[in-house]
Amino acid sequence: MPELAVYATCPEHSRGRRYQEAVPQGRSEFQRDRDRIIHSTAFRRLEYKTQVFVNHEGDLFRTRLTHSLEVAQIARSIARGLRLNEDLVEAIALAHDLGHTPFGHAGQDALNSCMKDYGGFEHNLQSLRVVDVLEERYAAFDGLNLCFETREGILKHCSRKNAKTLGKLGERFLNKQQPSLEAQLCNVADEIAYNNHDVDDGLRSGLISLQQLSEVGIFRRHLQAVKKQHPSVVERRLIHETVRRMINTLVSDVTRQSLQKIRQLSPKNPDEVRVAEQLIAFSPKIREEQQQLKQFLRQHLYQHYRVTRMSVKSKRIISDLFHAFMEDARLLPLQFQEKAHRDKPRAISDYIAGMTDRYAIREHRRLFAVEELWS
Ligand code: MG
Repeated sequence: MPELAVYATCPEHSRGRRYQEAVPQGRSEFQRDRDRIIHSTAFRRLEYKTQVFVNHEGDLFRTRLTHSLEVAQIARSIARGLRLNEDLVEAIALAHDLGHTPFGHAGQDALNSCMKDYGGFEHNLQSLRVVDVLEERYAAFDGLNLCFETREGILKHCSRKNAKTLGKLGERFLNKQQPSLEAQLCNVADEIAYNNHDVDDGLRSGLISLQQLSEVGIFRRHLQAVKKQHPSVVERRLIHETVRRMINTLVSDVTRQSLQKIRQLSPKNPDEVRVAEQLIAFSPKIREEQQQLKQFLRQHLYQHYRVTRMSVKSKRIISDLFHAFMEDARLLPLQFQEKAHRDKPRAISDYIAGMTDRYAIREHRRLFAVEELWS
């Protein structure tokens, strides 16, 4: 690993953990965070949670787990190019989606509307809640007791109202400051990962076609270059080669552009970064092309009628479950019944948010199918 830049976050200057612990031996504080995340229950569940396609629709589609691994890979590449802290970047990337409900954005929207009178539901805040409170693995504390910097990176956005309840962690949203460069970088890596893997999954599913995608400048450019260089390549390889080149272009662009912005500001330490504008960014041309790609995916993939059918059904599952538990909390598993004594809607929301796609479908069947009376 190259030596860290002066503006990188270093574990020795961490703002610490919520519960004090001895300094780790043989690994850094951020490596310890990464290890705790990988060993968590919520991390294992990501394997069975939807990214765009419901988990059991096909073995080759991305899940939240493979998405998170791709984000970590991309984020580490950029971090190395910028001499930022790779361990911190990896921890943030692997944890960034831990709070996602089953069924992707449809699930989150449904749970948010069920919770509208009880403080709402926001997957970003839920990711923080998972690592701060919900994981029950350590003898001495609830949650994973991660470092401030990792938690800050997990909380990408936050309303002012919620920020006021978060103490030090919420301050940057109230003061309109930036998080560390490592956190900024994970946001961009997330975007690079999902735009590209959604292109790949979208084509594999047959919901979008190569011809349609050729409307999008960045895709067309790379597709044509591959075809010219390899005129007889089969379609699967053509797609992968195109996507791989797009990722490469984006990673190089963001590295180049960010380095330039960092050099202009020349921050002497990580704190100077926080009061500057966002420094990790695409060049204006690539930013525009990314917008075009996003717009294409929204229109042709995320709003495709087959995806819509799945979303509507998933919303029904989430909302049925929520209302059944609200009506009679005795239907909850015992550990959640106990929590429901303190705050019923939040306990139900935590239970539902933690479900995998297939668990939610099964739980719905157990509660609503008359032929499964004894379950
Ligand atoms: Mg993500």
